[in-house]
Amino acid sequence: MAFDKLNGIVLRYADYKENDRILTVLTRERGLVSLTARGVRSNRPNAACAVKDIFCCGEFVVYERNGIEYISSSSVIEAFYPIREDYDRFSTAAQIAATVKRVGNPAKNDELYSLVYYTLSFIAYSEACCKDLLIGFYAKLIVIEGYEPIITYCAGCGKSVLNYKQIRFSNQLGGSLCDECASDEAAFSAESMEALRRIILLESRELYRIRLTANMQSELFKLLSAHMEYSMGQSIPNIK
Ligand SMILES: [Zn+2]
Repeated sequence: MAFDKLNGIVLRYADYKENDRILTVLTRERGLVSLTARGVRSNRPNAACAVKDIFCCGEFVVYERNGIEYISSSSVIEAFYPIREDYDRFSTAAQIAATVKRVGNPAKNDELYSLVYYTLSFIAYSEACCKDLLIGFYAKLIVIEGYEPIITYCAGCGKSVLNYKQIRFSNQLGGSLCDECASDEAAFSAESMEALRRIILLESRELYRIRLTANMQSELFKLLSAHMEYSMGQSIPNIK
């Protein structure tokens, strides 16, 4: 029997049969996979399968039989416990999990895995605002998926928009517009656009540094959601 080793984060699970559980796992190596953990819900749970809870990150040894992948053993790398103990943290992480399940890009598993890993780490262990982290997550996700927005110059004609106070943004062209190229596209403050430019420059492991005002949060949710809907076919769900 051939065994495969995977690093992964549990994004969802469904209980199955009497004692089993099927995990949806974002892996560094293969993107989203479905893994069956046998015997983890019995009175004497299978101690070899330690990774079985949502948002838990671990190492899995798996094998395939009849088209189904089973976990032979798993060990916890990071449990991210505080996420499950706080409503705001949990709902933020749940939104990330729901988004990743829909857009996981097999070509860039490694970057997507790092983005999810670090975002969950900061949700669990940092004092960073959940909304700021969520905006950082969506901005970086859009870049990973190949839709990095053009911010400092016009996506229509290439002219600089750096001296603008308000900048219109075209979802169709994926970027800012100068006054000559713009018509009735939504407009955003120069401060929000500059914040977005800086967020995109951050590495995933630096996302805890984001600090946004309430107005920036509201503008960037609006911009990123519309941009994602146009380019990736899904918008950002409304959060409180
Ligand atoms: Zn222009």
